[in-house]
Amino acid sequence: GTARIAVTGLATMGSNLARNLARHGYRVAVHNRTSARTTALIEQHGQEGDFVAAETMPELVAALAKPRQIIIMVKAGQPTDAVIDELVDLLEPGDMVIDGGNAQFADTRRREAALRERGLHFVGAGISGGEEGALNGPSIMPGGSKESYAHLGPVLESIAAKVDGQPCCVHVGPDGAGHFVKMVHNGIEYADMQLIAEAYDLLRRAGGLKPAEIAEVFRGWNSGDLESYLVEITAEVLGHVDAATGQPFVDVVADQAEQKGTGRWTVQEALELGIPVTGIAEAVFARALSGHVDQRVAVRDRLPGDVPSTVAVDGLVDDVRHALYASKVVAYAQGFDQIRAASQTYGWNIDLGAMATIWRGGCIIRARFLDRIREAYDGNPELPSLLVNDYFADAVEQAQQAWRRVVSTAVQAGVPVPGFSSALAYYDGLRSERLPAALVQGLRDFFGAHTYRRVDREGSFHTLWGADRSEIEA
Ligand code: NDP
Repeated sequence: GTARIAVTGLATMGSNLARNLARHGYRVAVHNRTSARTTALIEQHGQEGDFVAAETMPELVAALAKPRQIIIMVKAGQPTDAVIDELVDLLEPGDMVIDGGNAQFADTRRREAALRERGLHFVGAGISGGEEGALNGPSIMPGGSKESYAHLGPVLESIAAKVDGQPCCVHVGPDGAGHFVKMVHNGIEYADMQLIAEAYDLLRRAGGLKPAEIAEVFRGWNSGDLESYLVEITAEVLGHVDAATGQPFVDVVADQAEQKGTGRWTVQEALELGIPVTGIAEAVFARALSGHVDQRVAVRDRLPGDVPSTVAVDGLVDDVRHALYASKVVAYAQGFDQIRAASQTYGWNIDLGAMATIWRGGCIIRARFLDRIREAYDGNPELPSLLVNDYFADAVEQAQQAWRRVVSTAVQAGVPVPGFSSALAYYDGLRSERLPAALVQGLRDFFGAHTYRRVDREGSFHTLWGADRSEIEA
């Protein structure tokens, strides 16, 4: 065969990715389990480039030049395994299977190991940016062998989003590294959206602003440090008026946030790694709380708490901007900590600055301040936290008083701000010289003889709490 690359799975993501490839001059073989999708793609977009339609998997494989490169874009989970099983017997050593779906990184590790046994390369590639990104340039986070990236990298980089001429695609690391980074990207997206939602809620409930006015506030913020895709579209959504009722769109949408699971995975993995990603966790739990409608309705009347508040709106808007920015820096710092921890645990050797680079375009969390994150890690790859990079440390220092006022205001006004307040708690925890963890250790030793270490001597110790309370070395 002569096709440079293949795509199997031609729903929203796969068909747009195939078109993106074709528009970049690659001969693309396309296939879908139900061939009607293949036919539809060729009928509607066949003229955009050089497609080879395949009705069956053997036809798809036969259409490809060697070493073969096949992108799988099917529903994540069992369908991916089904497609891989069908493919592997048709392939030869050196061929590359790329999973562009939202796979669990542990699945990717398993699949990579299984295919490696057979001499095949398996590339778990996180692809962000939804339908629009797939067509016009996504952010791509490929894992897998260096050897496979040598073949695939140029293709993926050419179809990826570009920022300042740089592609939003880089080899992330071996096996599950790409899908792990994509997962954390999605987790950060959850945190970012929760913080934006809290800012809106405060301006509305404590500040008394109307959605259209808050839209203007966000529009203004989008020309500063907060410039980002999510802040930009927040202005759009808040400014939108429902045609049927003439009400602000946000007032006619049911206030129950749904989730597909990548935020939850991020938190589950963070728990395994022992990394506090409080921003992402609070966002996942806030969505969960919103979804428990029956419970909310059942308890609402019995839980008073509305405290009328008088807040000077002028000050509040700027304070909330600071709180949003500082909390966002914390959420990203936590996400990068998680990537670093996984990189160490799994031996991925991930370049954190490069991750910030490839998130600058094509993906949902694209934002101006990712340039700053890249500079921070490029300047010092061993940075113990993003928060201590000079730029971010100064920004958070400047924001700090406003951030504290905002959390206090929210508490006084009875507006929940789990994102803002947990970010501040994390910040205060990190910077505290002494934490009450010492008391926790004392309690653990009291009831469970779990022992503790001392500040003044090496070793593990236990106090004989039930006896004379003398201390013994454990
Ligand atoms: P869907 O997740 O809706 O999956 C539909 C596709 O999967 C169809 O092509 C379908 O084939 C195929 N499929 C399902 N089960 C099987 C099976 N057992 N064997 C073979 N093929 C099967 O499509 P999307 O385009 O939305 O997403 C594709 C992947 O990209 C998913 O992993 C998704 O998580 C990920 N992704 C999606 C984004 C988005 O914005 N939608 C963004 C980033 C990643 P058939 O037509 O025959 O039913």
